[in-house]
Amino acid sequence: MLPRAKKQFGQHFLTDRHYIDRIVTAIAPARDDVMVEIGPGPGALTAPLVERLDRLHAVEVDRDLAAALRERWDAKQFTLHEQDVLTFDFSQVGPRFRCVGNLPYNISTPFLFHLADYAEALIDAVFMLQKEVVDRMVAAPDSEAYGRLSVMLQYRFAMRRLFDVPPGAFTPPPKVDSAIVRMVPLGADRPRAKDDIRFAAIVTAGFGQRRKTLGNTLKPFLSSSQIEACGIDPKRRAETLSVSEFIALADVR
Ligand code: SAM
Repeated sequence: MLPRAKKQFGQHFLTDRHYIDRIVTAIAPARDDVMVEIGPGPGALTAPLVERLDRLHAVEVDRDLAAALRERWDAKQFTLHEQDVLTFDFSQVGPRFRCVGNLPYNISTPFLFHLADYAEALIDAVFMLQKEVVDRMVAAPDSEAYGRLSVMLQYRFAMRRLFDVPPGAFTPPPKVDSAIVRMVPLGADRPRAKDDIRFAAIVTAGFGQRRKTLGNTLKPFLSSSQIEACGIDPKRRAETLSVSEFIALADVR
């Protein structure tokens, strides 16, 4: 029997066998993968993953669910980290790892930013997220969904939307559609700003007031003539800039 879903932990449990199988196929676990599952809940994905892996790490914040999961599998096969994933130190699982999960939608954006800090150790990730968030992750410039999340993630990851999952696949059904996304960190030769912190600050400022021109929003960082010197019209808005144009702006001194 499924446990009662707790709203504060964004709990919607996957119950549709068809989608569980499709997600596990998309993950394609190999026996010796070092894998971390976020939010195992009652274990819809956990069970087939434990079956296919020598060992699975999982991070779960809900004490009741954590206790039930601990009882189910041997600690050698299944290592449960009972804590908030937003403060989880992924380096403790090893130098390279894969990450999967049906994420709690209420923390998905801060979680993706947290995971991005470990991009160099991450092999890949397969996540279920609110469809609208996946739209933002993979959005191209000049589209409604393109924003800070798109630029900050596309700066570090190649991302592909795999398939959609309807509300009826969960108990209780969420109000929104969901989608599966695969994230693969870009290689060491990826285009990179000289200073990641300045890059992030410029992206945040640019999208802070989406409808204003770059000449306005980037005033604390760059003059209009510095923006023009990058070949970018200061009358443009952040939502029209590619990731490489943001890098060019961040590199001006
Ligand atoms: N994987 C299960 C499934 O597919 O049925 C549960 C998915 S449910 C959408 C999200 C899970 O993440 C829940 O088990 C919830 O308790 C857990 N969770 C919520 N917030 C969390 C956090 N901050 N850190 C770790 N786990 C969290």
